[in-house]
Amino acid sequence: MDTLPVITIDGPAGAGKSTLGERLARRLGYLYFDTGIMYRALAWAVLYHGIDPRDSIAVAELAKTLQIQVNHPHIADGRQYSVQVDNQDITWNLRQPEVEANVSLVASYPQVREIMRARQRAIGETGHVVMVGRDIGSIVMPDAPYKIYLVASLEERARRRTAELQIRGHHADLAQISNEIARRDSLDQHIMQPAPDAIVVSSDGQTPDEVVETILRSIGVAHGTLGSRN
Ligand code: C5P
Repeated sequence: MDTLPVITIDGPAGAGKSTLGERLARRLGYLYFDTGIMYRALAWAVLYHGIDPRDSIAVAELAKTLQIQVNHPHIADGRQYSVQVDNQDITWNLRQPEVEANVSLVASYPQVREIMRARQRAIGETGHVVMVGRDIGSIVMPDAPYKIYLVASLEERARRRTAELQIRGHHADLAQISNEIARRDSLDQHIMQPAPDAIVVSSDGQTPDEVVETILRSIGVAHGTLGSRN
């Protein structure tokens, strides 16, 4: 069987996975898919429906039926994609502090992970996809031929997140954001194992374009040998 043209990018919060994944997908003509939004959408829906995020059974029940639609952006407000749940546009709600505070808990339930991973695998199997997350190379698409594990120091990740929020006009406190990222690192630790064949790339001190070039060079597809989606 031919190997599927899939690139996985895993790594901790704020390492630059989404910026990079999107650029890489654009360069290659691939679909970009950020799996974090599925867990965020579930966390949002849990809170929206008044479900206790600690109730693993109720959370998993909701995960089974939740329709999460991810489409090309239909509004030019800086979004990478539009996310709809039950016909509501929740794209920006996914970044709310309440969602951020609960997402790792709802993502930790094995039954939830099983449901989400099956959906992610189905998307990955369509091929020509850059899929971004925590466990994509190690568990969701272990046969993907190109696996990146992106890292960056906590200081740099916190600085970037703070700048992103400030650009969007939000109040952002560096120390608080740094604590929040460190908290999510420790909660996500159990799912953040780089695949044994992943290439570890550090984005510290590099622009996104530099990192894209590093990745293309390291996977040897600088000349478009992978072909595009269409
Ligand atoms: O990547 P992002 O920060 O948007 O992910 C939000 C949260 O979703 C992570 O902190 C993690 O708890 C969860 N997640 C996960 N598995 C993935 C992607 C994200 O558990 N593949």
